[in-house]
Amino acid sequence: MEEKLEKLYNECINELASIGINVLNEDFGNIDIKIAKRNSSRYGCCKQEEPDKNFYHFEKRKYRNVKVYDKFKIHHIEICRWVMELNDNIIKNTIIHEIIHCFPYCNNHGKIFKSYAKIINEKLNYNITRLGNKKEDFEKSNVEYKENLPIYNYKIICKNCGQVFYRKRLQKNFLRKYRCGKCSGKFDIFRGVYDGKKVSSKT
Ligand SMILES: [Zn+2]
Ligand SMILES: [Zn+2]
Repeated sequence: MEEKLEKLYNECINELASIGINVLNEDFGNIDIKIAKRNSSRYGCCKQEEPDKNFYHFEKRKYRNVKVYDKFKIHHIEICRWVMELNDNIIKNTIIHEIIHCFPYCNNHGKIFKSYAKIINEKLNYNITRLGNKKEDFEKSNVEYKENLPIYNYKIICKNCGQVFYRKRLQKNFLRKYRCGKCSGKFDIFRGVYDGKKVSSKT
């Protein structure tokens, strides 16, 4: 899956270069890309590091003015696992969305982000939007759309009564701390990518 992501990322870079946006240009900083470790309902994210201290503005947050940096030297793009099940075109759409966040003044969905998205949509025939449309993207990919995306990382089964439930995260020492709410049995934990209903249970 990482290989596929790498391949699609390189295609995106080449397509952007073909319309004069050279992502490998030093000015954009250093970008790396990987599959997100944690499953979540969003498509992906871009974590910024090492702000260029010369580029900033102030934003009002409640009663304070907060300094917000506009340009970064290091960018870590993460794409969520469920996105990788969709059409290449939609995966690339997601990759380019996150690449735009690496550009100066684009660590948000503001005016400059939108103007890049517009140019890229027009010239390269993408559909980069602020949020994306999951239902539509699943339909286009011929993948069954589920309201509950497979976003759970842990499946927990009671060894004694067989009760099953799912969690995104687990506390440290979960196995030692908790017993089944129904029968006080011990649990087995399976790591993976799960959908399914989160059954609330007193554990
Ligand atoms: Zn975004
Ligand atoms: Zn039990």
